Amino acid sequence: MELLKERIRQDGLVIDEHVLKVDQFLNHQMDIALINEIGKEFRRIFKDHDITKIITIEASGIGIACIAAQYFNNVPVIFAKKSKSINIEGDVYWVDVKSYTHKQEYNVILSKKFLNENDTVLLIDDFLANGCALSGLIEIVREAKAKLVGAGIVIEKTFQEGGKTIRNMDVRVESLVKVKSLKGNVVEFDD
Ligand code: 5GP
Repeated sequence: MELLKERIRQDGLVIDEHVLKVDQFLNHQMDIALINEIGKEFRRIFKDHDITKIITIEASGIGIACIAAQYFNNVPVIFAKKSKSINIEGDVYWVDVKSYTHKQEYNVILSKKFLNENDTVLLIDDFLANGCALSGLIEIVREAKAKLVGAGIVIEKTFQEGGKTIRNMDVRVESLVKVKSLKGNVVEFDD
């Protein structure tokens, strides 16, 4: 997605060799016109599926998923909650996730009343790095026996393992831009 690449070149901040900051337009301040284009692009990619739910994880996926949902007939968006507590109450799906990015462990939780075997799910997230967050969501979708059509990712960092890990789980991953390197303070794209 050329528009997104241009925006990353213009406003993305390379923090170090591993982390790209996009808080000008995606992760803190949000450029709604750009995110609308992102939503349209996800729709174009996944147009052949009758998606019934979009699932993301708090916090930075929520806004993107909500805007994208408008291009999927306003299907409900469910955001999985992250919790450090192990006191999980109620009828919920939950998995334990280890985040390499943030060097912490947390639970990903989603209420059973919002997801079941009749659902067809698209996962959406802002970044794919090591794939921990996404693999947690996939586990939940599989446990619910819902149909998973794939994952729409805004920015995949292909120099980290997540893309390989998730594709090895037999999940279709579609990333709008792929970053192959952040070395020398420069963002290099895959294609
Ligand atoms: P994971 O390692 O599980 O694939 O990444 C988990 C989360 O960390 C992503 O959903 C994203 O919110 C955040 N993250 C990972 N890498 C980056 C990055 O380079 N920049 C920013 N802003 N967030 C990132």
